Amino acid sequence: MLHFKMLGTAAGGGVPQWNCACSLCALARESPETVKPRLQLQAIVSSDGEGWYLLNASPDLRFQIEANPELQPDPRNGRRSTPIRGIVLTSADLDQILGVLLLREFQPLTLYATALVRKTLEANSFFRMLERVPNQLAWVEIVPGQPFELGHSGIRCTPIPLAGSLPFYARELDTGETGQASLGLLLEHEGRRIAYTPTVPEITPELKEFYRGADAAFVDGTFWSDAELNCTHAGTPMARAIGHVPLGGEDGTIALLREVDFQRRIFVHINNTNPILDPRRDAYRAVIEAGWEIADDGWQLDRS
Ligand SMILES: [Zn+2]
Repeated sequence: MLHFKMLGTAAGGGVPQWNCACSLCALARESPETVKPRLQLQAIVSSDGEGWYLLNASPDLRFQIEANPELQPDPRNGRRSTPIRGIVLTSADLDQILGVLLLREFQPLTLYATALVRKTLEANSFFRMLERVPNQLAWVEIVPGQPFELGHSGIRCTPIPLAGSLPFYARELDTGETGQASLGLLLEHEGRRIAYTPTVPEITPELKEFYRGADAAFVDGTFWSDAELNCTHAGTPMARAIGHVPLGGEDGTIALLREVDFQRRIFVHINNTNPILDPRRDAYRAVIEAGWEIADDGWQLDRS
């Protein structure tokens, strides 16, 4: 059985974001029953409910482990253990990798990443904390387009190349090769298919094909409109300019995927400026009426 759970559903910064007093962040602080607070994006997957794979590693990972018993060490396995069998990195963005540094207490870890993402992390001296003892880190190279198995879980993972470059802190390492810096994932087990694309820079024919036939697709829900961030905070970029197709409008994600045949369509990676966070807003109703779901922290496939 394919177990899949979202432990965090916000974009970078979370909801509320520490330095933001926009109307949605204010509501998340004052009226959390209206606008639910959210941790930063984190998904986990398992075939047996015992060993788990992290899809990226959020800056909120420690809280997410303590809030979810399936990720905690079992005392029957001695004083040091973890049910975390590996971490799949789909980019080198800080929001996706900072959690790896939180797992540095001499615990052997398996990291799945492209050669470029590995090089980016290894170029950063902080990550030497993960190489203090022999075999602390085991790297498994991901090649875009080439399926691989997550450990011995039986889960087949196909990395889908996406447009995108390395983050600002590592831009001098970039090679420009599509898929080395940013990936979507197709997870398959016993006939079930899950597409995981929390970042969608462009809806291409290949991406539509990738979603087709999925039992559930987790899709970039960062922004409702292209100008949303800019309208809330002057001087900030447009959504598309930072690699996120907005949800609304004729050229938005909802319209572009309307005719594509797949089952459950779920938005994740929601920025604190996005009006879909408030169930009283028109944007929220438009999303629900179009047949989409908005994942909350703790969302589980087969239980939601
Ligand atoms: Zn805000």
